[in-house]
Amino acid sequence: MMPTTRSRPATSPIRPLQPALHDADVVRQIGQTPLIDLTPLAPRRKPGVCVLGKAEFMNPGGSVKDRPALRMVQEGLQSGALRDGRTLIDATSGNTGIAYAMLGAALGFPVTLALPANASDERKHLLRIYGADLILTDPMESTDGAQREVKERVAAEPDRYFYPDQYNNHANWRAHYDGTGVEILEQTEGAVTHFVTGLGTTGTFVGVSRRLKEANPDVRCVSLQPDSPLHGLEGLKHLPTALVPGIYDADLADDNLHVTTEAAQAMTRRLARELGVLVGVSGGANVAGALRVAETLETGTVVTILCDTGMRYLSEDFWNQAA
Ligand code: PMP
Repeated sequence: MMPTTRSRPATSPIRPLQPALHDADVVRQIGQTPLIDLTPLAPRRKPGVCVLGKAEFMNPGGSVKDRPALRMVQEGLQSGALRDGRTLIDATSGNTGIAYAMLGAALGFPVTLALPANASDERKHLLRIYGADLILTDPMESTDGAQREVKERVAAEPDRYFYPDQYNNHANWRAHYDGTGVEILEQTEGAVTHFVTGLGTTGTFVGVSRRLKEANPDVRCVSLQPDSPLHGLEGLKHLPTALVPGIYDADLADDNLHVTTEAAQAMTRRLARELGVLVGVSGGANVAGALRVAETLETGTVVTILCDTGMRYLSEDFWNQAA
């Protein structure tokens, strides 16, 4: 076996990757998340309209990003790009990194992550608990700065790393095309009429929208973004001022909504207080957007994504506001 790039205890050598992929329990727990009825949050109840949230916070790594991380790792193993002696490296605002770190711990490969220094403390702590090495980048450059840092390191030492590059890796959106999108069709028995979700790497929006439109070209797919470059919607991008991910396909969007940080935070509080559903702020943004779409309908089934668990943001102040 080749030596590893990071020192590990002698009692815990890198396990053979391929067999472990089938054995690791966390891997089998990814996906098949339930839909939660969010209709009670609508300002006006209409009998023919319902709003459903895909409970992605129930994935073992606590977020929607378990799905693409697993798919990118699987494809890396299959192609040989991820093999013994190589370190997985990528730029991530947090959740993909947590998923990579979880998979690295379960399957036995080292993980190095670049993320903006202002990512929540819970996230950074969690990444270190799973055993990942962190490179903290300039918060003013958001995840774009983290991407640049990773590219520089990979260019300097290409044989040392497996670089999935989630912003440009088609396995990212395919995980949602084959997973999340199919599950939404099955769980709504094909009744879904609208899909609303925020844009980060854009993998969720692109993969799910492609799958839903293939099943029914009348499904309306609505993307959602923060209303300004400086925002508090962790995981989401303000595309006009960001590096546009290579996997993004603007043609899939029938409409695009903007959400303020305050509106997203208020909806995140309502989800916890009125429904007992504890999600992060991008989940709140998605639900705010889905309810706006539902307001315009007389009949329809609107599906959105509850991207990650609110447990990841417990130290943030916005929970303390009254309404
Ligand atoms: N919400 C959160 C909390 C995220 O971490 C991400 C991933 N950046 C998203 C939303 C957006 O998902 P995607 O990358 O698939 O666009």
